[in-house]
Amino acid sequence: MFKTIIAAYDGSDHAQEALKAACDLTSKYGARLHIVHTPQVASETMMVGYSAVPLPPSAEELEKAGADAIEKATAIVGEQGIDNAVTHVQPGDPGRVIVEYAKAENADLIVMGRRGLGDFGSLLVGSITHKVSQLAECAVLTVK
Ligand code: ATP
Ligand code: MG
Ligand code: MG
Repeated sequence: MFKTIIAAYDGSDHAQEALKAACDLTSKYGARLHIVHTPQVASETMMVGYSAVPLPPSAEELEKAGADAIEKATAIVGEQGIDNAVTHVQPGDPGRVIVEYAKAENADLIVMGRRGLGDFGSLLVGSITHKVSQLAECAVLTVK
């Protein structure tokens, strides 16, 4: 049933749990695992008059953040016995990146954390999980 499984990784403990669940399913179904990551760098601001205008992160910063996250994710899935995961790093809006990559790869399942790095509010589900659940064309598993 599941041949192509996407795990969305943002570096959080929640996403780590999601990666582990994705590995388990990947092994059980003999599927191919793809790890998707959208690097997010806290932006510096520049004062324009009285407003703080965010400056876009540099390409180098994004590349470094992306490489670090993928290194961590690859180590986690390696511990779970998966050494042939495909990795995809793409800056942009994470929800859009995940949904569009899943579509392009004709994925059967997206696995993600119910919350992520921004887990300090009272919401049950993070905004990226909410968006992907609504827009994905395939099944979405949210891991608690
Ligand atoms: P919010 O970001 O809305 O404040 P949150 O950080 O708790 O809240 P989400 O961002 O929705 O929640 O994260 C939920 C899951 O979405 C993560 O566990 C991860 O699987 C995925 N995800 C979030 N951000 C990214 C990202 N930048 N790249 C890849 N996957 C992501
Ligand atoms: Mg988040
Ligand atoms: Mg589909």
